[in-house]
Amino acid sequence: MSAEKQIPEGEEELLFIGGKQLLGQKQAVGLLTKSMASGRLAHAYLFRGPDGVGKQLLARILAAAVNCGQAKGMAACGKCSSCKKFALSAHPDFEIVSPEKGAIKISQVRELIKKLSFAPYEAKMRVVLIEDIHTMRQEAANSLLKTLEEPPADNLLILTADSSRTVLQTILSRCQTIPLYPLNAEESVEVILRENSEIGPKVAKTLARLSEGSPGRALLLHQQEIVPFCEKVVGLICDREKTADQYAGLVLQTAEQMAELKEDLPVLFGLLRLFFRDGLVHHCSPELDGEGGKYRKDWNSDDYFVKLQAIDRAEKELGRNCNRLLVCEILLFTLQK
Ligand SMILES: [Zn+2]
Repeated sequence: MSAEKQIPEGEEELLFIGGKQLLGQKQAVGLLTKSMASGRLAHAYLFRGPDGVGKQLLARILAAAVNCGQAKGMAACGKCSSCKKFALSAHPDFEIVSPEKGAIKISQVRELIKKLSFAPYEAKMRVVLIEDIHTMRQEAANSLLKTLEEPPADNLLILTADSSRTVLQTILSRCQTIPLYPLNAEESVEVILRENSEIGPKVAKTLARLSEGSPGRALLLHQQEIVPFCEKVVGLICDREKTADQYAGLVLQTAEQMAELKEDLPVLFGLLRLFFRDGLVHHCSPELDGEGGKYRKDWNSDDYFVKLQAIDRAEKELGRNCNRLLVCEILLFTLQK
């Protein structure tokens, strides 16, 4: 799309690879573009940012750009044979090392070092992406240090790490760190819709709000079907047709399903909080609610505050390791009142 377009001065080039556009990350792109323009790329980078904000995509874009004869800054041409191979993730000189069973193992590092001792097959620069370097333990890290400090000629190493996790100092000191940041809401929605055509705009918006600028996390949440489950819970809370006994039975059953979410329970709490917050807005200014939520007419603003507080309390109790099932039951009964 962007390949032949003339970019007016001062405007940024859109960065694509394999049909995927990198959104946000202006600072990272700016730093890398500058290094490329001055011919001073580091030999090892660490892309550090939250999960799911485009670290791998940026690595692939950089890999394609350094190997494309007609790249403009970070934007590869997308047409030459090297670009086509990178776009398909089928370039023989692009290596990805990912954690196996939760960690990057010393055997993986040894295998990589052996590969690097041979010249690249066809690329100007072989690019090695080592993902989630924070999972690497001391022993494996030690075996990588020499390579990291001085990779064989024609090799570029790109490491990624989750910004909330600790990376060994010995690794940090041998890489140039490039920070990546959460995306804004619009960018998140755009990525979510692009990555999964089954997700509608409304759900995408909810997922984007929930995942705090990480479309990757949003897509993971979608897989867990937590949004439809929350809709079921909301349906139960708003249902005024059932008798008290019928309702109690359903609450207990639903609380059990909620408790089974375990570590993902806070995500459901987050969704419920969004529902009640939107309900409160709807109650105070109904004209602002374009989508016409299905809120209960008998709730006033005090009710909404009580319910929002109940969610906060439940979350705190979970943090203190209270009985999960009991916390869910009490919460559901309070929300339904
Ligand atoms: Zn190219």
